[in-house]
Amino acid sequence: TFKAVRIDKADKGTSAALTQFDEAELMDGDVTVRVEWSTLNYKDGLALTGKSPVVRRFPMIAGIDFAGTVETSTNPNWKPGDKVIANGWGMGETHLGAYAEKARVKGDWLVRLPEGMTARQAMAIGTAGYTAMLSVLALENHGLKPADGPVIVTGAAGGVGSVAIALLSKLGYHVIASTGRMAEESYLKSLGAAEIIDRNELSGPAKPLAKERWVGGVDSVGSTTLANLLAMTKYRGAIAACGLAGGMDLPSSVAPFILRGVSLLGIDSVMCPIDLRKQAWARLATDLDAGKLSDMTQEVPLDQVIDAGSKLLAGQVRGRTVVKIS
Ligand code: NAP
Repeated sequence: TFKAVRIDKADKGTSAALTQFDEAELMDGDVTVRVEWSTLNYKDGLALTGKSPVVRRFPMIAGIDFAGTVETSTNPNWKPGDKVIANGWGMGETHLGAYAEKARVKGDWLVRLPEGMTARQAMAIGTAGYTAMLSVLALENHGLKPADGPVIVTGAAGGVGSVAIALLSKLGYHVIASTGRMAEESYLKSLGAAEIIDRNELSGPAKPLAKERWVGGVDSVGSTTLANLLAMTKYRGAIAACGLAGGMDLPSSVAPFILRGVSLLGIDSVMCPIDLRKQAWARLATDLDAGKLSDMTQEVPLDQVIDAGSKLLAGQVRGRTVVKIS
């Protein structure tokens, strides 16, 4: 057996507990990994608290991403001792997840830990940071360059937001950070934000078009916030939509698209193709400042992750949280 955070069906919703899990119960896969580090993302908070039905198989092991060392493999691409990262693919939702000393997965899901990056750093980045990178790649693919104008990052003090600010500022962008935690101004400026705005400015009902304020953005909030972002985007700009911390709806209009040529870029990390994952992790190894990553990261042991998940959903966690597994 091995230690794991297990989610079970309960009378009302689900329950989460740190228990022993039987290796014989691991699901199909051609690579078994000794998990060393995992992390806490918004979706992990939802799964641990049961606040949203992200878990679709019981029992489940929570945790949507891990970094660790291959123990056994029948996949030709991987051998014992290889250092690997896995993000998403339904781990913690439909496939047994990462808050455990062992994980068995498809070798095709794995990305090699980049040269010069530790397993702990990879999970300090985690799904949140890799999604921030996917968002930046989508903006670059759209043709965005720092000289084009300012960019906005919403949910700025959260995980996706913190990494997005660090990445965009390192690349030379003028970054406007939108936050509900104005007390975190010095933290956000230390990550590279040039301007801080109160998220209330963007959370009311959106007009079809408003004064143009930015040429690009990374949005982890959704709902009226995303609608306002679109209405305030400069001609031919683009917003990468990756989150729903403020709501799943999008009360917008077609005006930004048809009158200003604005683009809405959808970002999904879970089923993202492997080549794009490799590209994202390679860029994270070169374009994310290790000092800033360390400054935005706190660590919890596995036996405190359930509590940390509740705090994250309550908006009380700043930046990123790594989970020490063993
Ligand atoms: P997080 O650390 O909790 O960050 C979310 C941030 O959003 C909070 O720190 C807060 O920032 C802001 N926020 C929270 N509630 C809000 C509300 N009601 N209205 C406006 N802003 C609010 O979570 P995360 O791990 O970074 O994830 C952020 C979002 O991205 C989540 O919705 C998550 O599901 C999504 N996500 C999607 C993908 C994908 O594949 N598309 C991957 C990863 C994450 P401030 O305190 O600064 O205001």
